Amino acid sequence: MRLRTLESLGDVAGKRVFVRVDFNVPLEDGRVADDLRIRATLPTLTELLEGGASLVLASHLGRPKGQVVEKYRLGPVGDRVAELLGRDVAAVGDVVGDEARAVCGHVEPGEVVLLENLRFEPGEEANAPEFADALASLADLYVDDAFGVAHREHASVVGVAERLPSAAGRLLQREVEVLSKLLEGPDEPYVAVLGGAKVSDKLGAISALVARVDALLIGGAMAFTFLAAEGVDVGKSLVEPDRFDDVRAAQKLATERGALIQLPEDVVVAPEVRADVERRTVGVDAIPRDMMGLDVGPRTVEEFARTVADARTILWNGPMGVFELEPFSAGTRGVARAVAGSKAFTVVGGGDSLLAVNRLGLEGSFDHLSTGGGASLEFLEGKELPGIAVLEER
Ligand code: ADP
Ligand code: MG
Repeated sequence: MRLRTLESLGDVAGKRVFVRVDFNVPLEDGRVADDLRIRATLPTLTELLEGGASLVLASHLGRPKGQVVEKYRLGPVGDRVAELLGRDVAAVGDVVGDEARAVCGHVEPGEVVLLENLRFEPGEEANAPEFADALASLADLYVDDAFGVAHREHASVVGVAERLPSAAGRLLQREVEVLSKLLEGPDEPYVAVLGGAKVSDKLGAISALVARVDALLIGGAMAFTFLAAEGVDVGKSLVEPDRFDDVRAAQKLATERGALIQLPEDVVVAPEVRADVERRTVGVDAIPRDMMGLDVGPRTVEEFARTVADARTILWNGPMGVFELEPFSAGTRGVARAVAGSKAFTVVGGGDSLLAVNRLGLEGSFDHLSTGGGASLEFLEGKELPGIAVLEER
């Protein structure tokens, strides 16, 4: 797959470039709490500005479902973008209304406009033609740097790309390069570490990875569905019985291919998901009836670290436990350090996993942090993502 990149747009001097970015960042007290996604798109923004373009930035934030929701306004995001770019950012109060049209109509080279939250408009998620027309009328060229929504057929992802000369930004370009390598020809051994809340969220990825990797290490809550499907009594741990057949199918395929599915050997258990309750570490065959597994134990971390140490490519998606609570964060910390410290080419994806990486101060220790959670998993399943298909070289 070859994407049209910024080169394909030619000279951008004096052009208005609509840049679809993913500024769906956590806000706290009216400020951006984690700006990784904003920083990740700076190379594209800077390159376009240095080329003499003006920018019309557009993003979604949260799930306002087609109406104005005050807490999802992009004002605080605009402030942070301005700080990072070292330029003024004109954050307008609407998406395609009078204010947006007036400001975009008079924008000069080097100036930056940030439209209001795209998802305040029902036409965004519906990919409504009139809304896509209205967005496209605000600029001359289109650049997509929002990998996190590449799997969505939304107006700002697909509709505008069809209406203007369009290309992938540097972040999207890099995401596709890295993930294509994992899909098509990773250096082996290729080890995937999956965790997080649910098997059902990541079932497609589990099936695709089992068919591809040398080892699949499973932690997080999803490990309990794998264990329970084997008949292990996992107490009150989260289990999805309607996924037993799927995880057995994954086990079967792994056995046929000679790939290893590695499950936790020990877990940290507690009566409920709270930081201030009594906890202990037990073997997976000794989980008490009235307790739930909330993290992988130290023996598991050691075993996972051993597998990871031999890998030449590692994909990690999903925390190993309830890392948000300190008493259940050691498993995620241990595995994160093992992956970060390996000599392999390392890729991390998933919103919560990136948050964990950020808290551990390990952001610089991986080869690639994928800004798309769901999008990166769908890509690794080999699915065609609409936001990428529309930018393929013709
Ligand atoms: P990501 O965003 O990295 O893809 P997920 O959204 O799939 O990750 O899962 C993250 C969530 O999974 C976290 O909120 C974490 O608390 C939860 N989680 C991990 N392990 C467990 C567990 N054993 N029991 C309950 N929740 C868990
Ligand atoms: Mg998540």
